[in-house]
Amino acid sequence: MPSASRPLARLAALALAALAAAPLAASAQPKAARGKTEVTWYGHAAFVVTTPGGTVLAIDPWLSNPKAPEPGLAGKLPKVDYILVSHGHFDHVGDAIAIAKRTGAKLITNFDLGSSLVAAGYPKDQAGMETLGNMGGTIQAGDAAVTMVAAVHSSGFADDKGAVHPGGNPMGFVIQVKGGPTIYHTGDTDLTQDMKQLPERFGRVDVMLTCIGGHFTMDPKAAAIAVSYVRPRTVVPMHFGTFPAIAGTPEELRAALKGKAEVRVLEPGKPAGF
Ligand SMILES: [Zn+2]
Repeated sequence: MPSASRPLARLAALALAALAAAPLAASAQPKAARGKTEVTWYGHAAFVVTTPGGTVLAIDPWLSNPKAPEPGLAGKLPKVDYILVSHGHFDHVGDAIAIAKRTGAKLITNFDLGSSLVAAGYPKDQAGMETLGNMGGTIQAGDAAVTMVAAVHSSGFADDKGAVHPGGNPMGFVIQVKGGPTIYHTGDTDLTQDMKQLPERFGRVDVMLTCIGGHFTMDPKAAAIAVSYVRPRTVVPMHFGTFPAIAGTPEELRAALKGKAEVRVLEPGKPAGF
């Protein structure tokens, strides 16, 4: 080989090596010192995730939902660092503003919905450029990285007077906890082909918090297909049974999955370790 082409050959070899390593890079989040992450379901789509580093993330915190384990929870959570809101509907925005005012929690959602929530009273200095983003963006939240991913739904935010404000695109969240699990909260969504790219992008999804109720979202059969795309270790059903219209059940999900993934039904208010 002429000497002039050697650097080129070396570059090509480096590029090939980089390409080969690329699919692994996304899953390179250190998992050796696996700490315990607590996930508490509060009914409907509301979860609180507490990381090994002590970061508290409240997702879609409608804590006054009919399945909530006790009344007045929005005034009781001792610490919330971040509030993640998947879209603008009341059953997901829930008690976000009240919790934010009391705890100082920062808002993670898309910019459009963030602006609408600030107009409705979410403290402005807790909803700025640091934590508002949009689809595909990753927000560092303590020892967790939160990526906003696609969901197929709608997202208008209705204020107290019923006026509807922009909610941007609805979303799901992938939460990669440092030294802990990768958790996917689907938000409200239909089954989408987009879900297939999650393992390629984020590595192994440990826990999938999935809507199963039907009527507004995937039903159990569609959710079972979503699970086959995402291939999580554990599936936690949500967004079912809160109202008569969302009638899908964990039993129907189990039947549709035919043992292909563990289904863990959380008890509202009781922390589960992952
Ligand atoms: Zn909903």
